[in-house]
Amino acid sequence: MMIIMHPGAPREQIDAVIAEIEKQKLTSHPIFGVEQTIIGAVGDGHYVAKEIFEAFPGVMEVQRISKPYKLASRQFHEQDSVFQLDGFSIGGTEIPIIAGPCSVESRAQILEIAQAVKEGGANALRGGVFKPRTSPYAFQGLGEEGLEYMVEAREKTGLPLVVEVMAVSQIEMMTKYVDVFQLGARNMQNFNLLRAIGETRTPVLFKRGMSATIEEMLMASEYIISGGNTRVMLCERGIRTFETATRNTTDINAVPVLKKLTHLPVIIDPSHSTGDSAFVSAVAKAGVAAGADGIIVEVHQDPAHAISDGKQSLTPEAFAKMVKQVKAVAEAVDRRLVVSQHATA
Ligand code: PEP
Ligand code: MN
Repeated sequence: MMIIMHPGAPREQIDAVIAEIEKQKLTSHPIFGVEQTIIGAVGDGHYVAKEIFEAFPGVMEVQRISKPYKLASRQFHEQDSVFQLDGFSIGGTEIPIIAGPCSVESRAQILEIAQAVKEGGANALRGGVFKPRTSPYAFQGLGEEGLEYMVEAREKTGLPLVVEVMAVSQIEMMTKYVDVFQLGARNMQNFNLLRAIGETRTPVLFKRGMSATIEEMLMASEYIISGGNTRVMLCERGIRTFETATRNTTDINAVPVLKKLTHLPVIIDPSHSTGDSAFVSAVAKAGVAAGADGIIVEVHQDPAHAISDGKQSLTPEAFAKMVKQVKAVAEAVDRRLVVSQHATA
């Protein structure tokens, strides 16, 4: 339910409505606008009569949110959400690029590739240290040691860090190192993990499960947002279909569909979507043309010898070329790439 207060309603009236929401065993999520306050009342509220709230002084209107997800929906928050991250914003006109290797493999590897992606136009550095590998015998990541190397890369380049968190037990330790948590496709419906991430205030890059519908994705993101961690960016990373020519099938439709249904920023991952470096640039451009607010892409200095996801990793040169082309597409749709405060001239 959304309780829309009259413009200029005093704080006491807002507090009285919030107290009633809590009394009804719902959770309140006020949005304090410059003139008007809107209070979300979420939880299992279908049996709570909206007339209860309509009777409160200062209440202008009460609306039910028809979607099964509430705080993520455009009904709850009509304007695009814009998040300020270190050195860039996402969700507005600017399109940030997050780039780096699939896995942090060694100190030398991550320091070198961090510098290369920065020079190629990246605004943030990605790199996994806990890897969700299909085989338990495949490289599982460097763990905390890898995070120390990532931090060194951040100190040298100024790029903020995007790193996947795989388990509740990793959250506290990782919070000290990372700027953005990546929630991986395989964990999209790991509800305990989602709730625990919702307790933090670290922004989240939230990946679509490879077999999840858009509605399931939005409901899962709601687990994080309803915990009070509102800076969630949704990522289309390809879904499983009958097609075997590529690793996954990019659901390019998901980009405009998500933009219609939610106010949250939408990111495209052309690397996992295609699984093949030959197609990454094409899908990155398609994503931006379709309205994506950002890109996350895998780049490696020696893709043939990468420990994970080498086949889909761009070389630094191919990455720089992709960025130039994405820039032109962004401008064609009235967007622009981030003029990075970290960029080298
Ligand atoms: C990754 O980003 O390296 C990754 C494992 O992504 P996904 O969860 O989308 O497969
Ligand atoms: Mn990967």
